[in-house]
Amino acid sequence: LRQEAFAHCKEPAVTLDGHRVEVVANIGNVEGARIALEHGAEGVGLLRTEFLYLERSTLPDEEEQYQAYRAILEAFGQQPVVLRTLDIGGDKELAYMELPKEENPFLGVRGIRLCLAHPELFRPQIRAALRAGVGYNLKLMFPMIATLDEVRAAKRIVEECREELHRDGKPVAESIEIGIMVEVPSAAVMAEHFAREVDFFSIGTNDLTQYTLAADRANAQLADLISAFSPAVLILIGQVIQAAHRHGKWVGLCGELAGEPLGIPILLGLGLDEFSMNPSAIPLAKQIIRSLSLPQCQELAREVLKLESAQAVKERVRERLPFLV
Ligand code: PEP
Ligand code: MG
Repeated sequence: LRQEAFAHCKEPAVTLDGHRVEVVANIGNVEGARIALEHGAEGVGLLRTEFLYLERSTLPDEEEQYQAYRAILEAFGQQPVVLRTLDIGGDKELAYMELPKEENPFLGVRGIRLCLAHPELFRPQIRAALRAGVGYNLKLMFPMIATLDEVRAAKRIVEECREELHRDGKPVAESIEIGIMVEVPSAAVMAEHFAREVDFFSIGTNDLTQYTLAADRANAQLADLISAFSPAVLILIGQVIQAAHRHGKWVGLCGELAGEPLGIPILLGLGLDEFSMNPSAIPLAKQIIRSLSLPQCQELAREVLKLESAQAVKERVRERLPFLV
């Protein structure tokens, strides 16, 4: 599979029985757009915007952000680009902001919590994004959403920025899709409610796994414990996808699991619509999808959701699909 993969990486990912899914990239800067396209990305499922904010002494202004977003959108033409709003918190220093030190930064004022508390940080980013999206297929996504109030507050700010830009006489992207990352267990458990508020979900298994298993994702001692193949995580993923589909909303997944050869058949079987991964993983992921049938993956997903451990899940996938190694 690996050998043939790159040669076919620009072709779509369709299962043996004709089910097509989107395979898109996680990128973290303007250069990433080029690399993603070379590897066959059909768009961007996760644009991490932190690159504009870190390792510098002043806040990036609206214009600088506009230019960067515009360059990425131009590279992708009419393909979708999901821009995730700023996702930093107590563990990352911003030299130009006095953030109080926190005992537990991963459980602290991070992601959307920080942005809602600091409109001076959030609004220029939203304004830049709404301006850059004109004529392109931009979607906005909020990280670390835990409650419905947060998503409503964030959407309200988007609307206010839109009205402000109209008043300023600036062209604005109208009717862009707005989604959330599902990476906090409360959002996964309450997916039915969130599905009414948003256009799409993107499941962040890196954080969802960390928070579900209460295990720091950066702690090497916990590497065995913190697996996205844990049935607890897979059950949440399945519930999120079903809740979204009941409301006619699509679901992506942009954690590392989306690009894992053993994860792909499970996610296909659970009904995932969009797989977002590091560009280098795209060619093989597409080739794997082409080698599977949907009913076969659905049966596999039903089986693994009943297992007891991440280890058992991986073994079962290997057993059923030996060509995946
Ligand atoms: C995730 O949490 O799975 C994710 C994709 O976001 P990040 O890795 O940037 O936290
Ligand atoms: Mg995350």
